Amino acid sequence: MLQLYGPLNFFGTVYRTIQTAFIDMENMFDLLKEETETVDDIDSIELPKEQGSIVFDNVTFGYNQQRKILENVSFTVHPGETIAIVGPSGSGKTTVVRLLFRLYDVDEGSISFAGYDIRKLKRKSLRQSIGIVPQDTVLFNDTIGYNIQYGRPSASQEEIEDAAKAAAIHDFIVSHSEAYKVLVGERGLKLSGGEKQRVAIARTILKQPQYILLDEATSALDSQTERAIQENLYELCRSRTSVIVAHRLSTIVHADRILVLKHGRIVESGTHDELLSLNGLYYDMWELQNKPNRQGSEKSLDQTAIDMPED
Ligand code: ATP
Repeated sequence: MLQLYGPLNFFGTVYRTIQTAFIDMENMFDLLKEETETVDDIDSIELPKEQGSIVFDNVTFGYNQQRKILENVSFTVHPGETIAIVGPSGSGKTTVVRLLFRLYDVDEGSISFAGYDIRKLKRKSLRQSIGIVPQDTVLFNDTIGYNIQYGRPSASQEEIEDAAKAAAIHDFIVSHSEAYKVLVGERGLKLSGGEKQRVAIARTILKQPQYILLDEATSALDSQTERAIQENLYELCRSRTSVIVAHRLSTIVHADRILVLKHGRIVESGTHDELLSLNGLYYDMWELQNKPNRQGSEKSLDQTAIDMPED
């Protein structure tokens, strides 16, 4: 028996190493369904575990040389603050999130976390400190429980369920006979965009990161679910340095600051009330989202997703 234990133990270790590597690799490349274009500097360092601010300093960026997507964008998110980014479709909101996750490097200016230029940090350490809830969440062809646990592989079943409850996805999960063991993906349960995003929120709740990047799904959520998630998102972001890209302005009325992007530039910034009093683009978007539709009732959520084309 003892003779067997050695090799088995060895394979156990190898398996765990492969599993960890697998998760790290997925962390890096799969979460945003994108290849990363950045590499670690030879003398790159670890991002300290303490909370720090995020600074976007005069950032200019384009996916190619022909077209600038962000131009001279500057903002600071102090430790524990939540800032929201809104603006017409194509204005560059998701691009800000991609740069913060260092999928690309800026062309001009700099981005820093806790005072460290993002290009000087080990990407793995940066990404371990960030909880990201992308617009289009990748789910693995595995159980829904695994998909949540992925946020923290050491989490217990109870912690997984608590996170699922906080993300308003628990009831949906237990409505299936196999509950947390139900398979998702191509050959399993198909989830809507909103349901997938709630799985990503549950993952992030489990991960307990210092920084949160949330790119709100454009897909509609019913208003009851939206309210449930909003409260939990608020809790999730409350003590963390967070950047939320929002399509529904109702999601971010309580943000510490809201930046309005247009054609890759910040055209307005302030709190919800300050922006409304400016009577500018934010005011117009707010009016559009809250205008009753022709039947006289509130506009449905998918109608109110900000999809104003850039003029
Ligand atoms: P939406 O509200 O529709 O999600 P957004 O404000 O988040 O839009 P981005 O996704 O940041 O906008 O895109 C900004 C611009 O960059 C768009 O014109 C888009 O076509 C372009 N773009 C986005 N990703 C790429 C890419 N990988 N390669 C080239 N151009 C891109």
